[in-house]
Amino acid sequence: QKALHGKAALVTGGSRGIGAATALRLAQEGADVAVGYVHGKEAAEEVVRAVSALGRRSVALRADAADAAEAAGVVASAAEALGGLDILVNNAGVGVLGPLETLSLEDVDRVLDINVRGVFLASRAAAAWLHEGGRIITIGSCMAHRVPGPGGTLYAMSKAALAGLTKALARELGGRGITANLVLPGPINTDMNPADGPYAQGQAAMTALGRYGTADEVASMVAYLAGATYVTGAEFAVDGGHAA
Ligand code: NDP
Repeated sequence: QKALHGKAALVTGGSRGIGAATALRLAQEGADVAVGYVHGKEAAEEVVRAVSALGRRSVALRADAADAAEAAGVVASAAEALGGLDILVNNAGVGVLGPLETLSLEDVDRVLDINVRGVFLASRAAAAWLHEGGRIITIGSCMAHRVPGPGGTLYAMSKAALAGLTKALARELGGRGITANLVLPGPINTDMNPADGPYAQGQAAMTALGRYGTADEVASMVAYLAGATYVTGAEFAVDGGHAA
């Protein structure tokens, strides 16, 4: 029997990039997967088809993480569609980078609403559904701890908040046998950070391995944490040695 056989998972931002790879990976391990998205309906439905082709149940759920009611509500929708919830992967996020003086108040609110408030609200909603063995896995960023150049104030601030949230969730939910962990990707080839983008060479050079990572390389860490039973409140770099 597969490691995650019969588990029900919600992956926010499951339509593309790291989230899509994670949805597929969890399904390969035996989980049913709800795929969250905001704009990419067709992309989300494609992921649903790929999960279904693996013989798992799947559903695409539209929810704007910037909207408080939707950020929380998608968790209940996933649990209702899949008959419960065992794993929440907080993956949806936005990267708004640029010089300090160019970041507008709207930028600040939007990034904090999606990358921080939305994760808090989804995690709180999930806590009401999760049982013994439940998992909250959040996608942070290597920029939470090491910011290798200018332009990252808002994004790094938003991702650093997830470290506090994860540790506090681990303490709060540990008594119920629920774990909470944080994954810190380095440069990963996705729409958000394409390996052929203008800043790609510098990012690759800052890793020990000298290359971008793939979404699947992050997904495999998420799958590990979904199965891990004695790991909580911890952070896992999947960054090719960016932090080394
Ligand atoms: P992509 O831009 O490729 O995909 C982002 C995903 O998030 C999409 O599924 C998108 O949905 C969804 N999303 C964006 N905004 C919202 C919103 N307001 N409400 C709901 N869903 C939303 O990003 P990545 O796969 O690269 O990133 C995934 C996570 O990994 C993010 O949290 C990011 O910060 C983090 N990360 C990425 C790194 C990288 O180098 N790529 C490095 C470190 C961290 P839709 O398709 O509908 O737009």
